[in-house]
Amino acid sequence: MPVVQKFDPKVISLLQERIKLIKTDEERAVYLVGPIKLPVNLNGETVQFKWYCWLNCNETTEDFERIVAKLSSANLAEYQQSSVLVHGDFQNADHALIRFHSICHTGDIFGSKRCDCGYQLNQSLKHISDHGSGALFYLANHEGRGIGLFSKALAYILQENGYDTVDANLQLGFVDDSRDYSDAIKVLKALRTKPVTLITNNPKKLDALRKAGMDVEDRVQLWGDVSEYNEKYLKTKIERSGHLNGDEGCCNND
Ligand SMILES: [Zn+2]
Repeated sequence: MPVVQKFDPKVISLLQERIKLIKTDEERAVYLVGPIKLPVNLNGETVQFKWYCWLNCNETTEDFERIVAKLSSANLAEYQQSSVLVHGDFQNADHALIRFHSICHTGDIFGSKRCDCGYQLNQSLKHISDHGSGALFYLANHEGRGIGLFSKALAYILQENGYDTVDANLQLGFVDDSRDYSDAIKVLKALRTKPVTLITNNPKKLDALRKAGMDVEDRVQLWGDVSEYNEKYLKTKIERSGHLNGDEGCCNND
């Protein structure tokens, strides 16, 4: 039996002001919470961001108390939630930069040199901050191009034994790239309807956005941090995954 929980009305009214319901269909919805102030240490400088987090739910309701009541038993820490860091006047600025960044536990958190994710994350935030307005979407269900962290560890073992990054995923029974951008695009549309400039080397992201009806006016590429550890991996991304090669290097993992 689900526990029926009663909350302090003040608590619910504080939360209600900052939760937005985004309907995905009759039965499903994305609940977007924010903005929340998030000062970020970006290469030694403090940059102000507004942070939003979202949750997918099999219930569509404006009665957010019902949603809050589900959380304590939903075991959410066992799952990953995605979020977005917004900078400047993202809703109204004429030009805004966006990045859809796929989570990379090894690259973003540990600073692994086997890929260039950590570098891309840092540089994207820096571009957005320098530009004055933009948003970085951190997509938590995209580990290892959608195979998950444990499977990525297995794929790394295969890669250490001569398989390239695409074949390793295929050998484990996955498609090469199973990432889905639909929820992130819905959140983007809730935050901004004007055109965006996409930070990416990956044409699939550009296609996904355009197919979902987003007005993408431009794309900027992100190259750098090539090393002996990720050279082969980056070359594979370009040769086998259709990534676009840059003028200054061959670095690509987005
Ligand atoms: Zn990575």
